[in-house]
Amino acid sequence: MPLSDEQIERYSRQIIVPEMGARAQERLLGARMLLCGESRDASPVLLYLAGAGVGQIALMLAGPGEKSSKFASSVAALNPDCSVSSYRRGSAAQIDLALMLISSEASADAARAVLDELPRVPAIIVRLDSPAKIGIFPAPPPCPRCDPILLSPAINPSDFAADPIAISAASEALKLLAGIGGARPTIIEFDGYESRSHDAAANPQCRCATAERPAKAERSR
Ligand SMILES: [Zn+2]
Repeated sequence: MPLSDEQIERYSRQIIVPEMGARAQERLLGARMLLCGESRDASPVLLYLAGAGVGQIALMLAGPGEKSSKFASSVAALNPDCSVSSYRRGSAAQIDLALMLISSEASADAARAVLDELPRVPAIIVRLDSPAKIGIFPAPPPCPRCDPILLSPAINPSDFAADPIAISAASEALKLLAGIGGARPTIIEFDGYESRSHDAAANPQCRCATAERPAKAERSR
């Protein structure tokens, strides 16, 4: 759907970014994302994604008693183009990209549960414990399970600020959803404020390499 005058105004700072443009903004507005993690980690990321104009965000909060509904009003106030819902497992919802933030055993469990349900979903996994890592998997294989560390349940405490790393992963999510900046499977490793990236490799033992790809027509329905 073409952008309204109001939307052009709202996203003008983003649309003028050279590789972004109106077409990419339309893709963001039409995107459906799954955001999974602890509430404290997910909250700044959610507001960042909503501000950028991701159309639909399904939230899966780790830990007992966490309610997605508490975020709905702050997101609605920030950007009426974005809607937040709580992700219902087993709903087989069509998700364009899953962004999973791991900083605890509960959030690692939640990420594994998402991938059990949606093994071939384009995914970004963020380890907010130590060493911090971002794994970007635009079109499995490789998938997050191909990396031995990304989904590990062992949590190593860290003393760095998690939010900047989570936000930089969220900006990678925007690039994938907007279809800009290439889309290579990549691992970004952080060492303090230094970061290094390399290609993510497929693991032949992983089932993502052999699982049958869903037919394209079926996915876009
Ligand atoms: Zn895999």
